[in-house]
Amino acid sequence: IFISFEGPDGAGKTTALNSLLPLLKEETSKEVVVSREPGGSPISEKIRKIILSIHDQDMDDRTEALLYAAARRQHLVDVILPALNEDKVMISDRFVDSSIAYQGGGRQIGTKEVAEINDFAINGTIPDLTIYFDVTPEVGIARIRKDHEGAMDRLEQEKIDFHKRVHETYQKLIKENSDRIIRVDAEQKPEKVVSDALDIILKRFPK
Ligand code: C5P
Ligand code: MG
Repeated sequence: IFISFEGPDGAGKTTALNSLLPLLKEETSKEVVVSREPGGSPISEKIRKIILSIHDQDMDDRTEALLYAAARRQHLVDVILPALNEDKVMISDRFVDSSIAYQGGGRQIGTKEVAEINDFAINGTIPDLTIYFDVTPEVGIARIRKDHEGAMDRLEQEKIDFHKRVHETYQKLIKENSDRIIRVDAEQKPEKVVSDALDIILKRFPK
């Protein structure tokens, strides 16, 4: 079973995943494997370092998209496919939808273009279930930034516009993939976010 966790910055998906994991392990007899993207395997973590260290500086948008896809490919081969072959529950903190939302929508490369290079990278492996942790850009940004008060400068406004495009693209993806992607309201209190996500998983995959 392949499950991905998705959401904009500040959605709290990693925190939710950490709380959910022990609860899920109690409910399933299968082994649960968790990893994250970009990263998740030694080579992919090196690619992650390159991407995140150059973030917002000189890197060309398409170069960035290709590096995310390359990291994903290696993560798939090293971690995801072996786990699925052994009938484990594989949970990935981010997968292709992140690239479509961030590089396709956020960086405005185009969702179709980014989907295409990712099709090449994943070669047919798609999550059985995707849990999308939804927060509005305003709430998400406020969560990751403490100094939220005061006038917004131009750079900051650009960032907000970027996050709005990411959020909009996620909304489109949910509509187009309503059988695979299930939304959780991530503005609820943390315990409710976790229990909603766990319910969705257990409903979809009863033991
Ligand atoms: O999921 P996490 O918060 O660890 O992601 C790390 C950073 O990478 C985030 O700031 C996110 O905005 C960015 N990211 C991105 N494009 C992706 C995946 C993540 O810009 N495809
Ligand atoms: Mg995170």
